[in-house]
Amino acid sequence: MPFIITDPCIDTKDTACVDVCPVDCIHPRKDEPEFATATMLYIHPEECIDCGACVPACPVAAIYESVDATPSHQQDLVEANAIYRVGDAEAVAKAEAIVKTHVAAHPDLMAIPAAERQAAHAKS
Ligand code: SF4
Ligand code: SF4
Repeated sequence: MPFIITDPCIDTKDTACVDVCPVDCIHPRKDEPEFATATMLYIHPEECIDCGACVPACPVAAIYESVDATPSHQQDLVEANAIYRVGDAEAVAKAEAIVKTHVAAHPDLMAIPAAERQAAHAKS
């Protein structure tokens, strides 16, 4: 089961996870053209080998180890991770649209600083 990036990554996007991923399955990287406009980063579900290295690397606790471990208010972002593909403009647009809908649907949670949001999600 793949790891999932969720909303504390939005506007954090520091790529600490990219630097530790042994199979380079987190996109977009800083050297990929999509990086400048990406709202967050995404884990390719078929390429992720479930090593767990990215979880402690994330400064805002945005990464969950499975779909089941992902909080209910973040489940829409499971699909965003699943469909995002660097180099595929349609897939990128679909994933980013899911993220934008997510942000619009959760103004209360998105108002919480990214580093504190995982705890807020856990309570909701
Ligand atoms: S769990 Fe491992 S392989 Fe999967 S995204 Fe994280 S670092 Fe990469
Ligand atoms: S380390 Fe966390 S915040 Fe940084 S890019 Fe990866 S998922 Fe996003």
